[in-house]
Amino acid sequence: MNIIILGPQGSGKGTQAELLVKKLDLAYLEMGNILRDLASQKTILGEKITKFQKEGILVSDEIISEVLKSFLKKEIFKKGVLFDGFPRKLDQIYLLEKILKNNQAKIDKVIFLNISFEESIRRLTARRVCPKCDREFNLLTVPPKKENLCDDCGVQLIKRNDEDEETIKKRLEVYRKETLPVIDYFRQKGILIEVNGEQPVEIIFQEILRKLA
Ligand code: AMP
Repeated sequence: MNIIILGPQGSGKGTQAELLVKKLDLAYLEMGNILRDLASQKTILGEKITKFQKEGILVSDEIISEVLKSFLKKEIFKKGVLFDGFPRKLDQIYLLEKILKNNQAKIDKVIFLNISFEESIRRLTARRVCPKCDREFNLLTVPPKKENLCDDCGVQLIKRNDEDEETIKKRLEVYRKETLPVIDYFRQKGILIEVNGEQPVEIIFQEILRKLA
């Protein structure tokens, strides 16, 4: 089964994706993180990606296409894939559909974790990350045991470089303009599962499993 999980920034996609990947034994493609990993390398590609991410805009189709080619090897479709944060614009859907078709596969279900823009801003402003091990915390929902220090490394937590208020608003604007049409596309296809993302993690997870069945 190939599943996509979409929703505004901070809707809890990563948390639900982690639970789903374990439960359904899927391969996991988290586009934002793959791109951040590439951006952290001192290469020309890394520099290009950093520029897009810092501005809060979508990385170019050319780069996305390259990332997909290196990640989506034939074997992966035997298992099924959970796509997190991809596709985020209509052109990316067509790209993914083409790749899947070439591998005799298709998109089976799309999970839409819906939260309000106000909640998204509230959650993202409180997000912190450990610069050493990349563990994520949230001062509202998953605070570190000691103020502003990573539970594992004891290192001072930082904000992601695209999580100042201005860039968060920009990313949400991109989401509104580019990603909401993607959600509509899947709704019209009849494969969209919509879940209220402002509920507790376990309730959301159970609702997703029920609706996938
Ligand atoms: P995220 O952590 O998922 O919010 O992604 C952070 C940033 O990575 C975005 O603001 C984009 O610059 C880039 N990004 C993530 N997913 C995509 C995608 N599907 N297409 C283009 N850029 C992406």
